[in-house]
Amino acid sequence: MTTIRANCPECGDVQLKVTDLTVRVCSNDEQGSYMFDCPTCSTVVTKEASRRIVDLLTSSGVELQVWSLPAELSEPHFRGPQLSSDDLLSFHELLETSHWFGDLIEMVRSAPSQ
Ligand SMILES: [Zn+2]
Repeated sequence: MTTIRANCPECGDVQLKVTDLTVRVCSNDEQGSYMFDCPTCSTVVTKEASRRIVDLLTSSGVELQVWSLPAELSEPHFRGPQLSSDDLLSFHELLETSHWFGDLIEMVRSAPSQ
């Protein structure tokens, strides 16, 4: 069986089996990485991997996982005025009242829709 030499930050060079490693590639930006549990100290080691390293590892039989960034990242976000220190202070003062929760609900209800 093919053995792969990798580097653990704690133990230095370690010998791994093909099944000890996982290669991950992000489908959005093609960034690659690989990870393994160190056989000596059990640390989970993750490293960036160039396209060449990804190809080398997968052609040796290492499992490839393709993942994508969460769709929420491309959703439009509310673009309102930035929170100022005055806003923060007002919020802090509001939280010290006994009716803050009701007031907050009222503020959200009466806010203009996005
Ligand atoms: Zn180690």
